[in-house]
Amino acid sequence: MDKYRALKKYFGYTSFRQGQEQIIDSILSGRDTVGVLPTGTGKSVCYQLPAVMLKGVTLVISPLISLMNDQVKNLNAKNIKALALNSLIPKGKTERLYKSIINGEYTLLYVAPERLFNEGFLKLCGSIDIPLAVVDEAHCVCQWGMDFRPEYLKIADFIARLPKRPCVAAFTASATPDIRSGIEKILKLNEPCKVVTGFDRPNLFFDVIQTGSKLAKTAQLLKKKQGSKIVYCSTRRQTDEIYNYLTANGFNAASYHAGLDSLHRQNAREKFISGEKEIIVATNAFGMGIDKPDVRLVLHYNMPPDVESYYQQAGRAGRDGLAAECILLYSPPARKTHEFLIENSETNPELDKKQQDEHKAMRYKRLDDMELYCRGNVCFRKYILNYFGQESDDECDYCGYCGNNKTEKEEAGKEYGLRNTDAQYLAALKAIRKKAAKSCHIPGRLLVSDYELKKIVRTRPDNFDELEKYCSFSSYQLRKIGIDIIKICNLY
Ligand SMILES: [Zn+2]
Repeated sequence: MDKYRALKKYFGYTSFRQGQEQIIDSILSGRDTVGVLPTGTGKSVCYQLPAVMLKGVTLVISPLISLMNDQVKNLNAKNIKALALNSLIPKGKTERLYKSIINGEYTLLYVAPERLFNEGFLKLCGSIDIPLAVVDEAHCVCQWGMDFRPEYLKIADFIARLPKRPCVAAFTASATPDIRSGIEKILKLNEPCKVVTGFDRPNLFFDVIQTGSKLAKTAQLLKKKQGSKIVYCSTRRQTDEIYNYLTANGFNAASYHAGLDSLHRQNAREKFISGEKEIIVATNAFGMGIDKPDVRLVLHYNMPPDVESYYQQAGRAGRDGLAAECILLYSPPARKTHEFLIENSETNPELDKKQQDEHKAMRYKRLDDMELYCRGNVCFRKYILNYFGQESDDECDYCGYCGNNKTEKEEAGKEYGLRNTDAQYLAALKAIRKKAAKSCHIPGRLLVSDYELKKIVRTRPDNFDELEKYCSFSSYQLRKIGIDIIKICNLY
C-alpha cells in the first residue's frame, strides 16, 4: 500500500499537513528523523503511518500512561493493532501479551522508558522485528528539557542492544534550538533528517494581563468568551478554590487535578469534552493526550515555569483553526513560587554536581525568559516564535501587544495615499485587512498573512488575477477587500 492510500484508509485524510510527508518519507527510507511540530498539527500520524506500512513492530517510547492509553484507544478505533505495556498490566498477563507480540498481532507497541531494560522486555525485543523506534515527547531526553527523566538518557544504550538497529525517530512539540541539538546527541541519532514546521498558530490571540484581582478578572474573561474554556492553576488547592468560586457564581465548571479520585477526574474530563461542562479548572495534569478541537479560551491563572510549558498548554486552544484566546494573568510575585521550587526540587542523583548546577542555571534562565514574556515589551507572538528559534515579522496584529497599538496603525492606514512609501502602503493594506477580518470574525492573518501582504507591496498587483496569486478570496465579502486592495494599489 502506498502512503496516500494508507493515509486515506487509516486516517481518513486525502492530503498531508505541513511537514508530515517529509518526515514520513525520511522514516520510510530508513533515515533517523527529528520532527518538531506544534501540538495539534498531526504529529502522531508521522510515525503511525510508517508503522502500518513497515513490516514488524514499531516501538513507541512515551512518557505518560494516560498518553499511551489514549493513543492506543485511537489506533484501535482505526483498526490498527496497538498495545501499551505499562505498570497497570497485571504480572500474570505480561507473558501472554509477549507471546501475541511475537506472533505478530500488534503493529505498534507503546512503552515507558523505565521498561526498556526490563529483562523480559529485552528478550522480547531480541525476538521480534523492530523496523522503527519512536521517541515521543523527545524533549524529555534532554537534561534541559522541561520534564527531564533520567531513564531517557539510556534510550541510546537500549537501541544499541537490539539485534538490528532500527530507524530512530524523535518527536517533540516544543523545543528550543538547544534542546533540539541535545535530543540528537543523547539519542545518538545518525545524521538525522530534521523537520521543523512553523511554530506559529495564527488563529490564537495571545495576551498577558497584569492584575491585582485575579478572581474577578477570571470571572469577567470567562463570561465574555463563548464556548469551551480551560483555566490552568499551579496548585491543587488553588484549583479547588477557583472552582468553588466559579460554581458559587453560577459558572458551569468542572475541576481536575491529580489529588481528585479517578472517577471524579474521568467524569470531569468526559463532561468537558462533551461540552456538558463549559469550563474546566485544572492543574497542568489536565490536557496531555486530550484532543478537544474547539477550546476557545485557555486562561492561565499563574505564570508557568517556562515558555515551553506555557506554549504547550496554551496551544490546546483553537485546534480547529478558528479564533481562540490564550490569556495569562500575571502578578510579579509569581516568580517567588518558582524560585522556591527550583531551589527545593529533588535533584537527579545520576547527574554530577556540575551537571546539577547547569540544570539549575538553565531553569532560572527559562524562568527569566517566561517573566520577560509576561512583561509584554514586544509582540507576544514574535516573542514566542523567536524563543523557539523562528524568525517572525515585526508585528502580528493579533495579540495583546499589537492590539494595544492598533489605533496608531489605523491612523497610519487612514493616511494612505499621502506619500508614496512602502511602509504606508503596507499600513493601508493592514487597515483594510483588519476591517475585513472584523466583518468575517476571523483573525486578519488568516485572511492574508503578513508575508503575503509584503509580497503585494513589492509586486503591486493591479488586477484581480494578479492579486489572487497571494490571497485566496472565496466569499463575496472577501472578494470585496480584494477590490479595495486593487483600488489602493492604483493610487500609488
Ligand atoms: Zn503581536
